Amino acid sequence: MNSYDVAVIGSGPGGYVAAIRCAQLGMKTAIIEKYSTLGGTCLNVGCIPSKALLDSSHHYEDAIKHFEEHGIDISGEVKVNLEKMIARKQSVVDQTTGGIDFLMKKNKIDVYEGLGSFKDATHILIKGEKEEEIEAKNTIIATGSKPSSLPFINIDKERVITSTEALKLKEVPKHLIVIGGGVIGLELGQVYKRLGAEVSVVEYADRILPTMDAGVSKELNKVLKKQKFNINASHKVKSVERVGDEVIVKADNKKGEEVEFKGDYCLVSVGRRPYTDGLNAEAAGVKINDRGQVEVNDHLQTSASNIYAIGDVIKGAMLAHKAEEEGVFVAETLAGQKPHIDYNLIPGVVYTWPEVAAVGKTEEQLKEAGVEYKVGQFPMRALGRSRASMDLDGFVKVLADKTTDEILGVHMVGARAADMIAEAVVAMEYRASAEDVSRMSHAHPTFTEAIKEAALAATGDRALHV
Ligand code: FAD
Repeated sequence: MNSYDVAVIGSGPGGYVAAIRCAQLGMKTAIIEKYSTLGGTCLNVGCIPSKALLDSSHHYEDAIKHFEEHGIDISGEVKVNLEKMIARKQSVVDQTTGGIDFLMKKNKIDVYEGLGSFKDATHILIKGEKEEEIEAKNTIIATGSKPSSLPFINIDKERVITSTEALKLKEVPKHLIVIGGGVIGLELGQVYKRLGAEVSVVEYADRILPTMDAGVSKELNKVLKKQKFNINASHKVKSVERVGDEVIVKADNKKGEEVEFKGDYCLVSVGRRPYTDGLNAEAAGVKINDRGQVEVNDHLQTSASNIYAIGDVIKGAMLAHKAEEEGVFVAETLAGQKPHIDYNLIPGVVYTWPEVAAVGKTEEQLKEAGVEYKVGQFPMRALGRSRASMDLDGFVKVLADKTTDEILGVHMVGARAADMIAEAVVAMEYRASAEDVSRMSHAHPTFTEAIKEAALAATGDRALHV
């Protein structure tokens, strides 16, 4: 039987990063993955394929809507070849997952293909083509999550689908009904909207992106409406019925009236659930809480002292970069180091266009905590860079402590917000004040000037270009 210092169960961004860091720190490491490709949800059916389709559909939309105003005449019809678009997405996925194979080899990590399940706290059975058993002094559970649904919905994976099927449709829906106006629903909704579908979003909460800053959610709502999204907040879905090729969704609106949506596809994007099926966690003494998450302490250690858990399968934001930070954290803890993660500074991003990005506290959270704060907000349309590319929607909002001026939160909607948020993370990591950021030179013309201007606005209303 092969014996390891560390076995990692699950090869998503949490698991494979944990394995690499363990190997870098000199531990003999194994990784177990039940699928034939490494990379987990993120690389196979999450972050990477969704961004590939967002990019392709963005090019198409630019061609049909914006090339002309840029002075580019396209003679003849511009058409979508969905099969090719999906094939390109798959080749991006294949290259990326192949890259993880390379990294495992480079770091001398043994890869086992099969379902990992605990025999006891130091032995794992791997059920793949053959059945194997390995011994591990320490184990890191990184088994991730799966799409969740509502109890009355039958996901048939043909017309009533999850994000996984939405990434490989064979036709552009005529009318896509999206249940859930969170990140995944809006991103995939925008892909098919750009490709020509009518898109109706049905959201239970009183606004889309309900966990983000309300100002940001309002701005994106406005922009999506301009893009002709049909957004229905405060709608409680009560039935989803498939009749032939039609899907009928019934919901109650705020007034308690029944509203019916008829479409040809329904994307159920109501969240994800932690995944521990088949893991046999009890055999190792690992507790699962009533939300289905592996319970961990502040060191990400489970109720079994030699077993740790990271990523989507534990509490906290279900984000690839959060899982990665936790992977490194556990590897370094096992090596006797004292790592640290500031969960307040894990940024959240929505890759619609315009993009949405945020870090730190929202206005709602600051109000609830009774913190006195200042707001500096700057519209993207006031930037020369925005006018050059005609990306005029959105704003950057900086929230700073009223007394100390320390930046407490940064929220933005706009072109390239996903990349710009890194500046806010760095500033907040170093506990910068709004004035610190406002006094740093930002290249002109760039979208990042909106951060400087919003910081100026927060520092005594000193924005220069509004
Ligand atoms: P996962 O990536 O879910 O990996 C877990 C792995 O464990 C899987 O490969 C699974 O097969 C394997 N496994 C499970 N049980 C066993 C077992 N018993 N034995 C062996 N193997 C097992 N996040 C972002 O940060 N940015 C984005 O842009 C983004 N976009 C997304 C878009 C979509 C459509 C979706 C669905 C998700 C997106 N996410 C995004 C979320 C992101 O994918 C997850 O947060 C991330 O993958 C979690 O990583 P993880 O390592 O915890 O688990």
